[in-house]
Order: sequence, then structure tokens, then C-alpha cells
Amino acid sequence: MGKIIAIANQKGGVGKTTTAMNLAASLAVLEYKTLVVDADPQANTTSGLGHNPREVTNSIYECMVGKCTIDECLLETDLPSLTLVPSHINLVGAEVEMVSLNNREEKMREVLNSVQDNYDFILIDCAPSLGLITINALTASNSVIIPVQCEYFALEGLGKLLNTITIIQKRLNSGLEIEGILLTMYDVRLRLSNQVVEEVHTHFKNMVFETIIPRNVKLSESPSFGAPVIVHDAESKGALAYLNLAKEIGDKVKA
Ligand code: ADP
Ligand code: MG
Repeated sequence: MGKIIAIANQKGGVGKTTTAMNLAASLAVLEYKTLVVDADPQANTTSGLGHNPREVTNSIYECMVGKCTIDECLLETDLPSLTLVPSHINLVGAEVEMVSLNNREEKMREVLNSVQDNYDFILIDCAPSLGLITINALTASNSVIIPVQCEYFALEGLGKLLNTITIIQKRLNSGLEIEGILLTMYDVRLRLSNQVVEEVHTHFKNMVFETIIPRNVKLSESPSFGAPVIVHDAESKGALAYLNLAKEIGDKVKA
């Protein structure tokens, strides 16, 4: 049974989507069968993996409200072991539509449980909010990766996120673990970056991944080529960092 990992932080621009698409691609390159679910109406993971969100008819949204099956929304990517469940802008309306459903927090879990046996990993790229879709993602998951940008106010909002995770553990998903805090956009030349690394390690100790994701232009330009960085430039520092992260996570599952 595959491991389901949500990538969440209600703060925007911290590297959730970059992590979702590139960690998923790296796991696939390591020959783990991987599914990545785009649960953000902005659909950046969908376009970053080469699909036009405007052409998507069946997204995770249709699936959660029972308008299609998950098999009807699976899309292929450049990598044979990587499959995508896309998003599109209508996901914005899903929150409202789902309010009236029974077990509305558990729709994504129902959907993903039905395919969990087909994959080694299922990653969920969350929107920058703690709304119903993100609650669904955290309820469906075995663990959560929290990307933290090595910038001013890095820790801002983390308390609220950790609080939400505790509430979900109590009420909806007692098995939810924190896979790790991931430091992103690290710049070795910046004193600030180094200060953030130190601060996060002091606060969160062994909850922090060993792998640190550097700021790397190949990571920011690869979505415009519709490809993960490992396809766009496999030798880049960004590609190597996400490959390391995939090994770190893969080794933990094997152990
Ligand atoms: P989120 O999904 O949390 O909003 P993104 O992954 O979309 O964040 O990242 C925000 C912006 O920063 C994007 O333009 C992305 O290309 C860029 N970015 C993310 N991580 C890196 C990195 N390690 N190096 C360079 N640019 C990055
Ligand atoms: Mg995003």
C-alpha cells in the first residue's frame, strides 16, 4: 500500500508546488510508482508537468464530488512511473459545493484509498490555504511535508499550521505524521538563509530533513518547459537536491 504525503503550508510561494512536482519526478526516476495529485485551483503542478489546465475535464474536484472516477482523471507525464491527477480552476467552487456533503472532509481519502495499492507514493500539492480541500488532503495522508522558505518571516504561520495538524490528528486522522520540515530556496551566500536554517533546526530539531533545497534557476524555469527539473536539466543543483530528498524519503520507507 502506497504512502500518501501531503505537501502543505498555507503560506504561498514557499516551494510546495516545486517540491510536489520535483519530488514526485525524482521518486519516479528511482522507480517508485508515483502519483501526484494537484489539489490547488491554480493548477501549477498540472501545467508544470506539461498539461494545459484549461483542457482538463476531469480533475480531483470532479472525482471528490463523484462526477467521475479516479481512473478517468489520470494523466501520463514524461516519466513512465509518474502519473498526475490534475486540477483546474473549478476547484475553487469545490469548497462551496462540498459543504453540503456528508463526510465532506473525507472525500479525498475515499478517492485515494481506492488506488493506494497501485502506487508506492502518492503526493498531494496543496493550495496556500487551510480550507476544506487542504483539510481533505491532510485527512487522506499518512504524513505531511512542510516546505519552509529560507527568507524573512520563515516561521510565520507555522504555529497555525501545526495547530491545524493537531486538530486533524484528534478528529479526522489519528495516523497523520509529520514527514519533515523542508528548507527551500537556500542561498549559501546569504547570511539570512543561514540564520533561518539555524533557527529552524533549533526549533524543530530532528523534524527537519537533512536535504536542503538550494535556490536554483533551473527549478524556477523548468515549469515553463512543462517538465520537472530532472527532465529539464538532470545535472543541475536543483535536480540533485530533489533526488537526494527522494532517497531520504525512500530509505525511510524501506527501513
Ligand atoms: P508554492 O507552491 O508554495 O506557492 P512554488 O513552488 O510555486 O511555491 O514556488 C514559488 C516561486 O518560487 C515559483 O516561481 C518557483 O518557481 C520558485 N521557486 C521555488 N523553489 C525554488 C528554488 N529552490 N529555487 C528557485 N526558485 C524556486
Ligand atoms: Mg503552489
